[in-house]
Amino acid sequence: HHHRTAFEAATKGFVGGKVPLGIKRKGLRVVVTGGAGFVGSHLVDRLIARGDSVIVVDNFFTGRKENVMHHFGNPNFELIRHDVVEPLLLEVDQIYHLACPASPVHYKFNPIKTIKTNVVGTLNMLGLAKRVGARFLLTSTSEVYGDPLQHPQVETYWGNVNPIGVRSCYDEGKRTAETLTMDYHRGAQVEVRIARIFNTYGPRMCIDDGRVVSNFVAQALRKEPLTVYGDGNQTRSFQYVSDLVEGLMRLMEGEHIGPFNLGNPGEFTMVELAKVVQETIDPDAKIEFRPNTEDDPHKRKPDITRAKELLGWEPKIPLRQGLPLMVSDFRKRIFGDHSDANP
Ligand code: NAD
Ligand code: UDP
Ligand code: UDP
Repeated sequence: HHHRTAFEAATKGFVGGKVPLGIKRKGLRVVVTGGAGFVGSHLVDRLIARGDSVIVVDNFFTGRKENVMHHFGNPNFELIRHDVVEPLLLEVDQIYHLACPASPVHYKFNPIKTIKTNVVGTLNMLGLAKRVGARFLLTSTSEVYGDPLQHPQVETYWGNVNPIGVRSCYDEGKRTAETLTMDYHRGAQVEVRIARIFNTYGPRMCIDDGRVVSNFVAQALRKEPLTVYGDGNQTRSFQYVSDLVEGLMRLMEGEHIGPFNLGNPGEFTMVELAKVVQETIDPDAKIEFRPNTEDDPHKRKPDITRAKELLGWEPKIPLRQGLPLMVSDFRKRIFGDHSDANP
C-alpha cells in the first residue's frame, strides 16, 4: 500500500490537494535511533548527503557525539539525547531502528537494560511508526541463529539459541524485536523491513568495545599481544561498514520485508583474522590464547542469495581491503592525531 511522506502528511487536507505557495517538496524526514553509534553515524552521513532531514535519537551509552559532530549546524540535522525505552513523539517518513549496544562486552554489562532496549524500545518505535505511517527498519542480527546447526545460515533457518544464557538478553531480545516487527506489520499494517546483520567493522568502532576486530587492531597498534579466545578455530564473516549501509538503504527503499542477511560471506577463523591483522599492521605482533567466553557460537557465515536476488546487493570490500581503512582511523584516535576527525 501507499507510503505516506511527511510532505503528504503535512499537506493533507488542503483543498484539491493543492499545496500552498511556500511549501516545497524536500527530502524525506528520517529518524535514526542509535545514530551516534558506529553503524548509525555512517548511515546518517549517507542520508544527509542525499538531502534527507535526519533526526538522530541516542542515549550515548555506546555512541559518541564525535561521530556526528561534523553535521552540527546543518539545518537538516538534529540530535536528540533520548532513551528509546521511553516513548517519543516525532513526525517522520522513515525510522531506521539501530538503538542497542552491539558488542558482547557492552550488551552483557547491563543485560536487563539490553532486553528492555530491544523489547520496549522496539515497541515504542513501532508505535511511533504506526501513529505517523512511517516505514520502519529493524537492525536485527546474525545472533538470532545462535550457535547455528546449519552452515552457512539462510534466512529460513530458525536458529539454535540458548534462552537462559549470558548472551540471551541480546539474542532473544532481537528475536522478540523481530516478532514485534512482524506483528505490527500483520496487525497494524505498519510497513516494515528486517535486516539480519553479520559482524561489521570499520572506522568509528569503539576502540575498547571488546569485539574481535577492534581488539586485534588496537592491540597490534599498541604493541600488545593479540588475544585469541579459545582455540581460535571458531569462525566469523566480516563486513565493511559501507557495504552494510548500502544494504540497509536498499532494503528500506525496496519492496521486500525480509528478513535479509546482510553480511560478507568471506569466512575467517580467529587465528586467520589475527594473521591478517599481523600482515596489515605488524608482522611481529604476538598472539596470546585466552579462555573463551560462554556460549560462543562456533561458526557464522551468511548465505546472501536472497539479498543478491531481491535487493541487487552484495558486499564489495573484502577484509584485506577494508581493514587498512579502519586501521588509519584507529591510529589517529589512539595516537591523538586529530588532523582528520571525520573518517
Ligand atoms: P553501537 O553500540 O556503536 O551503536 C548503538 C547505538 O545505540 C549507540 O550510539 C548507543 O548509544 C545507542 N543506544 C543503545 N541503547 C540505547 C537506548 N536505550 N536508547 C537510545 N540509544 C541507545 O553499535 P553498532 O555496531 O553501530 O550497531 C548498530 C545496530 O546494528 C545495533 O542494533 C546492533 O544490534 C546491530 N548489529 C550490529 C552488528 C555489528 O557487527 N556492528 C552486528 C549485528 C547487528
Ligand atoms: N509510542 C511512542 N510514540 C508514538 C506512538 C506510540 O513512543 O508516537 C509508544 C507508546 O507509548 C506505546 C508504544 O509506542 O508504549 C506502542 O504504541 P501502540 O500505539 O502500538 O500501543 P498502545 O499505546 O495502544 O499500547
Ligand atoms: N574474540 C577473540 N579475541 C578477542 C575478542 C573476541 O578471539 O579479543 C573471539 C570471540 O570469542 C568470538 C569472535 O572473536 O569467537 C567474535 O567475537 P565478537 O565479540 O567480535 O563478536 P560476536 O560475533 O561474538 O558477537
